[in-house]
Amino acid sequence: MSYEITGHTVLTGLLGSPVAHSVSPMMHNESFKVLGLDYAYLAFDVDTQHLKTAVEGLKVLGVRGFNLTMPDKNLMADYCDRLSPAAEIIGAVNTVVNDNGILTGHTTDGIGYMEAAKDAGYDLTGKTMTLLGGGGAATAICVQAAIDGLKKIHVLNRKDTFFPRLQSLVDKINERTACQVLLHDLADERCLADCIGESHILTNATSVGMAPNTQDCLIRDPGILRPELIVSDVIYNPRETRLLRMAREKGCATFNGMYMLLYQGAAAFKLWTGQDMPISHIKQKYFS
Ligand code: NAD
Repeated sequence: MSYEITGHTVLTGLLGSPVAHSVSPMMHNESFKVLGLDYAYLAFDVDTQHLKTAVEGLKVLGVRGFNLTMPDKNLMADYCDRLSPAAEIIGAVNTVVNDNGILTGHTTDGIGYMEAAKDAGYDLTGKTMTLLGGGGAATAICVQAAIDGLKKIHVLNRKDTFFPRLQSLVDKINERTACQVLLHDLADERCLADCIGESHILTNATSVGMAPNTQDCLIRDPGILRPELIVSDVIYNPRETRLLRMAREKGCATFNGMYMLLYQGAAAFKLWTGQDMPISHIKQKYFS
């Protein structure tokens, strides 16, 4: 299939720092090629100091939209004209759509996680989740899971300076959705065991266990896991974290963060093009 940059090519891309390692350019450009769309996706190394100027420039250039990665996700929310309900609650965006100069910010990480759970065969509607972490990935998952109809979410985070902000975010989710979200101190081991005990799924949404610190794991006692529990990790490097290995050895079903990455991209792709990303092709080419 031919694929050329033309005078009509629509630009999309990624802003953040660093960005050179990202799989997003491959995933999007391959999808444009497969679907015959005259679009291109480029990665731009832009830190928070230069974000405003970069966004103004992209707006003038008429790009269709862009993704944001660290450290730009929070600041970008301030530069959007509109925010999706989920992005408004968490105050961060990873996808922007440009409609003739009107920038709408979305957060697709949570959508990516919920789609990954579906892909693994789990319908989490009405279920209870224990969610470890309170950073970008965790809050995106928490909001989307609440919107998508989970019954209860126990969020456990360390009591750092972010904890009070996390409590107000949890309060907002409780006000705006039917889901009951409870925030706990991650250091309380007894509480952690109780939360997991009443959950259908345990999700690590912290960076604990990510390469190169692959020996780290927030669950110290494998005895608090039981075979009926689904255990997932947002980390995809390594593919099997110490937590997932421990869970597998206890007989739990597990899934990692690979498909969360794929489906957050697919959600952005749909917002920009109106078309579905060719998922099985992209899975086979970049995620197998
Ligand atoms: P972040 O910095 O916003 O949040 C990090 C979280 O980890 C915080 O809640 C922090 O309290 C917790 N944490 C870190 N070290 C800890 C420790 N030693 N003990 C207890 N808690 C600790 O980062 P983020 O953007 O939320 O990313 C978290 C992880 O999610 C990273 O590994 C990232 O690669 C991954 N991620 C994956 C996807 C995906 O698509 N699969 C998307 C986004 C992020």
